[in-house]
Amino acid sequence: MPEKYLKMAKIPPKYRIVEVSRPPASRLRASVLIIYTGGTVGMVHGPSGALVPLNFNEIVKRVPSLKSLDLKITVISFPEPFDSSNVTISEWQQLAHIIYENYHIYDGFVILHGTDTMSFTASALSFMLQGLNKPVIFTGAQLPISAIRSDARANLVTALEIASAKKGKNPMVPEVCVYFDYQLMRGNRSYKKRSSQFAAFGCDNYPILARAGIRIAYNESVIKRYNPEEELVLKDRFSAEVLILKIFPSMQEHIVRHLLNTPDLKGVMLETYGSGNAPISGWFISCLREAIRKDIVVYNVSQLTGGIVMHGRYETSRFLDEIGVVSGHDITREAAITKLMFLLGTEGNIDVIKQKLSTPLSGEMSTPI
Ligand code: ASP
Repeated sequence: MPEKYLKMAKIPPKYRIVEVSRPPASRLRASVLIIYTGGTVGMVHGPSGALVPLNFNEIVKRVPSLKSLDLKITVISFPEPFDSSNVTISEWQQLAHIIYENYHIYDGFVILHGTDTMSFTASALSFMLQGLNKPVIFTGAQLPISAIRSDARANLVTALEIASAKKGKNPMVPEVCVYFDYQLMRGNRSYKKRSSQFAAFGCDNYPILARAGIRIAYNESVIKRYNPEEELVLKDRFSAEVLILKIFPSMQEHIVRHLLNTPDLKGVMLETYGSGNAPISGWFISCLREAIRKDIVVYNVSQLTGGIVMHGRYETSRFLDEIGVVSGHDITREAAITKLMFLLGTEGNIDVIKQKLSTPLSGEMSTPI
């Protein structure tokens, strides 16, 4: 194991690092690093009545069972736990760096994160951590851990179980996932679908990786395979010079033209109807064509959670293909925008960006046939 991986040198001291449990060697099954970012899971009602984040020590007090698991558990807490609606590229980078620098020390990672943008962050990490061979399991809660009926305890304890699960000597789930309400989903295939029920996440275009009942039933054929040849490579650049343009009936030309002429715009995620259809009005086609001529990448993603873009299936999508719009096939909107930002930040060549957008990078889309 390379020396540099043994220390947490690059993690600034402002991060709180706490060892929550260290069972005796005879009982030690695995080691897991929990990264606490904030979110409802760790919130309490503040003076104004609105929910505000707690620090992690308070959380440990509410889940005493963490200390009796056969796991060595360490927690790194973000200095200022945040509501995930405030997440930016900077938090994605910090998370990826923490995992990269601790990769060889722990068997798995659990990230406690707000649900609002959990699927965006999970997608971003799945692209940043190329060659990942260990579990990175995102979870959170719909009710704060301080609430009696909270889903936080069950979500956290099962996420730890999954992050430490092995098949023989190797990790059972060597990929970035979201675990929520008894379901394990590939992170970059998941999306938040409900704000007031415990089953907050959905995953329409890919099977569920595992279901937690009395035992955790893994659907091994759809889980990424452990690959001993793979080395973790961290890529941490993004470009935020993008926009999402959602199609709706009677969209106005002057507004769309204005948006597509935004200075420095590099990429547009076009949210289209059904299987990738958009109006065929002349002005709309010419707006897109002009943008593409200026090397703005236009990425076609369905507005439907279970949508699959198929250019040319209808007349209303054939023109998109002709003018050079890239098909996102069955990618989610969350994975699509992060992938667009990631490739625009990472790759210099526009043809390479377009080619990578249309094929799977980290299991976020199926291979189009
Ligand atoms: N606004 C919260 C967040 O995303 C919601 C949650 O955690 O469920 O941080």
